[in-house]
Amino acid sequence: MVSRRTSRKASPSPAPNPAYLWSSGGLVPWDEATVHISAIAWSTVSAVFEGIRAYWNEGEEELYIFRLQSHLDRLRDSMKLMRMSSPYSSEELSIAITELLKTNHAREDTYIMPLAYFGGSLPGYRAAYQQPGEILITARPLASNMRGNRGSRGSHCCISSWVRISDNVMPPRAKGIANYQNSRLAETEASINGYDAGIILNTQGKVAEGSYACVFIVRDGVVITPGITSGILESITRDTVIRLFRDVLKVPVVERDVDRTEFYVAQEAFFCGTYMEIEPILSVDRYTTGSGRPGPLTRKLRRLYQDVVRGRDKAYAQWQAPGWHRP
Ligand code: PMP
Repeated sequence: MVSRRTSRKASPSPAPNPAYLWSSGGLVPWDEATVHISAIAWSTVSAVFEGIRAYWNEGEEELYIFRLQSHLDRLRDSMKLMRMSSPYSSEELSIAITELLKTNHAREDTYIMPLAYFGGSLPGYRAAYQQPGEILITARPLASNMRGNRGSRGSHCCISSWVRISDNVMPPRAKGIANYQNSRLAETEASINGYDAGIILNTQGKVAEGSYACVFIVRDGVVITPGITSGILESITRDTVIRLFRDVLKVPVVERDVDRTEFYVAQEAFFCGTYMEIEPILSVDRYTTGSGRPGPLTRKLRRLYQDVVRGRDKAYAQWQAPGWHRP
């Protein structure tokens, strides 16, 4: 029997704002970056964004942006799905991000968030294809959740009563702000009911993903995750995890439909995402996962992931964009 105590920790106090953000083509002092209040409502409906982590490598005195190109590619795809054209190329956005980190003297783990939206005076829902989107980029300090295996102890989860949005309703593969209402409802429900996180089923009744992360289970030495047509965001961390298992840890990975009860009998389970990183799942609907502690493959993966994202493991140097110290 699993205790009803959750592992949720108290929220840290908010860090002060960085000096600058990047908006519509240039650096703007944080406090001067304002919009008219009437622009808030409809502009958010079609807004899409990215969440990117940069990791500070102490030994090399370098800030590494993890898989920047993959995130910019996904931002382009999300904008396309919203029929929003971009006034900036990926190269321009990549330079903008580096400039922003440099101007803010970022020398610690950082979360970078480009947001694309329809600005101007037309309501956001009408502006599609009549004008290009606008882009805003913020970068704020955000420490990693992983410190060896002494980071997060893991999450107690439930199967959410909320169903994942489907491709013919609001495409989950777009990282759209509006999609996050689905995630927020699931997360809030889980939290109110005493869990750390919810796992969301899709319209076929199969497992899709967590509120803000993809999910994996381990059964009999095989790593299993729902496929990319199961109503998930095409997660960059999911792709990283699949490659690390196959190429480095030499563990087979299968992408297929997953039933909720497979989570009840799995030997291991974990969430993965840029923000969440690798988060062990300790129980689902009070069914203990494995021993009730992070499993051996999850721990191995978490150690490897930390070395890769922080640029200590040079086998995946192509995934590292130098933040600004060695441009
Ligand atoms: N699914 C959802 C719903 C998410 O919000 C996230 C976080 N972006 C993920 C999966 C993980 O995606 P990524 O690994 O690209 O951050």
